[in-house]
Amino acid sequence: MSEIPAPEVAVDIDPAAKEQAFAHDVERNLICRQARYPDIATQHDWFMALAYTVRDRMLANWAGSMQTYSARDIKVACYLSAEFLIGPQLGNSLLNLGLESEAREAMRSLGQNLDELLAVEEEPGLGNGGLGRLAACYLDSLATLQIPAIGYGIRYEFGIFDQALRDGWQVEVTDKWLQKGNPWEIVRPDVSYYVSFGGHTQCTTDEAGRLRVQWHHTGQVKGVACDMPMQGYRVNTCNVLRLWKSEAVESFDFQDFNAGKYYEAVEMKVVSETLSKVLYPNDEPDAGKRLRLAQQYFFVSCSLQDMLRLSDAKGLPVERFADLFAAQLNDTHPSIAVAELMRLLLDERGLSWDVAWNITQRALAYTNHTLLPEALETWGLPLFQSLLPRPLEIIYEINRRFLDDVRRIYPGDDARVMRMSFIDEAGDRKVRMAHLATVGSHAVNGVAALHSDLLRQTVLRDFAEMFPERFLNVTNGVTPRRFLMLSNPALARLLDDTLGTDWRHDLARLDALAAHADSPALHDAWRKVRHDNKAALAVRIHATTGIEVNPGALFDIQVKRIHEYKRQHLNALYIISLWRRLSRNPDLDLPSRCFIFGGKAAPGYAMAKLIIRLITGIAETVNDDPAIGGRIKVVFYPDFNVKNGHAIYPAADLSEQISTAGKEASGTGNMKFMINGALTIGTLDGANVEIREEAGAENFFLFGLTAAQVDELKRSDYRPADYVRNDDTLRDALDQIAEGRFSRGDRDMFRPLLDNLMQSDPFLVLADFADYVRCQERVNEAWRDKEQWTRMSIMNTARSGKFSSDRAIAEYAERIWATRPVRIDHARS
Ligand SMILES: *Cc1c(COP(=O)(O)O)cnc(C)c1O
Repeated sequence: MSEIPAPEVAVDIDPAAKEQAFAHDVERNLICRQARYPDIATQHDWFMALAYTVRDRMLANWAGSMQTYSARDIKVACYLSAEFLIGPQLGNSLLNLGLESEAREAMRSLGQNLDELLAVEEEPGLGNGGLGRLAACYLDSLATLQIPAIGYGIRYEFGIFDQALRDGWQVEVTDKWLQKGNPWEIVRPDVSYYVSFGGHTQCTTDEAGRLRVQWHHTGQVKGVACDMPMQGYRVNTCNVLRLWKSEAVESFDFQDFNAGKYYEAVEMKVVSETLSKVLYPNDEPDAGKRLRLAQQYFFVSCSLQDMLRLSDAKGLPVERFADLFAAQLNDTHPSIAVAELMRLLLDERGLSWDVAWNITQRALAYTNHTLLPEALETWGLPLFQSLLPRPLEIIYEINRRFLDDVRRIYPGDDARVMRMSFIDEAGDRKVRMAHLATVGSHAVNGVAALHSDLLRQTVLRDFAEMFPERFLNVTNGVTPRRFLMLSNPALARLLDDTLGTDWRHDLARLDALAAHADSPALHDAWRKVRHDNKAALAVRIHATTGIEVNPGALFDIQVKRIHEYKRQHLNALYIISLWRRLSRNPDLDLPSRCFIFGGKAAPGYAMAKLIIRLITGIAETVNDDPAIGGRIKVVFYPDFNVKNGHAIYPAADLSEQISTAGKEASGTGNMKFMINGALTIGTLDGANVEIREEAGAENFFLFGLTAAQVDELKRSDYRPADYVRNDDTLRDALDQIAEGRFSRGDRDMFRPLLDNLMQSDPFLVLADFADYVRCQERVNEAWRDKEQWTRMSIMNTARSGKFSSDRAIAEYAERIWATRPVRIDHARS
């Protein structure tokens, strides 16, 4: 970690005294929290004592922030997300508090090494990948920009599985992140809410003669708040991530139910105890659907009830709710919020429909994350009806009123009404959650310019026509704290030495680096930093996989979830072709490359698991092939997660962003690589388009069909076999797979993958192969010219400012939430 400039406050205190005080607090926590004296404390005890000491340093900021937010005139942004992939907290909290060197010295005085203690922390794997990590980056930026905010989600007992490899196959291992306790968490049993499920509804008339609906549920679940601090960078702001844990309701009264309801009631009790047990992997076909919908409703209902309670505590009437809170829906997972906020306002608060609807629309905004039709969330009506009868009734009523509007605006256009309805009537009837979210929100955004355009043209076209002003783009970003300062401290220091430290508060200032792009002194220092990062990754690779890699080789890295649309198999086919070229012609003058992959496949996604097996099979065959003299190495780095990412992103020369154009909404891995000085080989997809725009076309390796060309090719009659027939290199690579070269002679293992490619190739791997190979040749040529490569690398970092999540959050705050930064006065302590 970097040497951090002293924080703006309290510079007059002697650093040695502060270290001593810090060490004293750690020792005290060791005794008071872990009940251990130093002599017999384990490394884990020391980690816990240190984490508590750091947490204590955040508590005053936390309390001060919460107190400030309770004022009437302060609007709070609430980020509702089923996932928060926050990564390890110790290093980031030290960085943001400016306590890194103090802690390092204090621990040294206690005979402990800070880096070793940092490595002890298990990360809370409360997300699948990009979407959950985005939510975490946004919390970091919200606090850093001093915007009052709460993150709302689920405290899964088991997060995303840990990935192990056995015989080259992925094996899922239960994630046990809570096993040794979570020192960051504060459980608040007093902050809890009841959430109803099942049963039926009944119409009654109240004293005032108004129609009221009662929901006679079959069971309730209690949600308990578990809070974690989200400390901003060098500010007093400390926001909260509030995750809900489900508990069975004590007074569950089985006598209330007649025999017919008994089993339903027992099922509700089981549900309540398992609701927050496990995170569902995405790309999972239909498994555990009922529980997943229950999870979504559970956390949304708890969160909205919490916001209403906080709003009441401000002493303002509920009619002012949307002036006090802005809720962002991270994809459709929390989209039931539209119906639930209506329900709370109508049934619990007694507001009229029109008033409730106005509040709901003003309070909510929706971020869409996917164009893949199979990823657009729908729920079967019978399931919805049995689990959430009252919210469904409200969805029907919103839909009825909305479709009346559609008919008024587009008279006689029944096809349009069918397309826009919340209920998909084709086949088994389903609720379309994206339609609910779109109609119930005042703003709908995509996550990169291309994605937002395609959203308006495709999946939400009718809605964009009807409400053009509602649609906008906010390109994703990543936090430069975690993904530069924390994980690449040597580069951060070099940037300080070259530019001063302004960039630490405004990443756009990195632009000034362009003026130094030809400085020989910077080139030398730049290459040294990059080489050291690669050497450090090489050590980890050897330790985890036993594979020896040369830090002098071109590190070519593709880390992200394994998915056909991300096309790890396109990369694999290129490696095979390269290996074949070198085997046939051992004297060929090609630069050494180390291909590094990482990523999890959803447990039920057979094709993705087969792609992992292909990569590990290629690694097995190629790495030990004496004919190529170690010039190609292939590594599958197991268990890619945030923590491992810290060592991976800073060590990349080449970032693989090769999804089929039009399929990747934005990508954020691409941004992490760019900030750290990797060059991108990529398609015109997601945020790659903007990365190339910022970096300059000359600093980006572009290949492949455009989204429009992909669309056209798929409309015409795409015949993947034609590409194989006409391309010897491609045919040879596929033949190698078919012959069992990567499966120890087994000719059947990869047949499903080969059949898929040859027969339908839904993601146009074969159509893009030739251009990808040509582009990789350009990469090889560029790599030969070290000066030129270094210049391109510097330019990528220099032009990465746009991809800070601070820029993204500033846009949300201004264009969607109307929230403002609030200074937190120096905390009482
Ligand atoms: C950034 C990140 C992702 C997202 O990567 P993409 O390349 O954008 O798909 C996924 N997983 C982890 C652990 C990450 O840090």
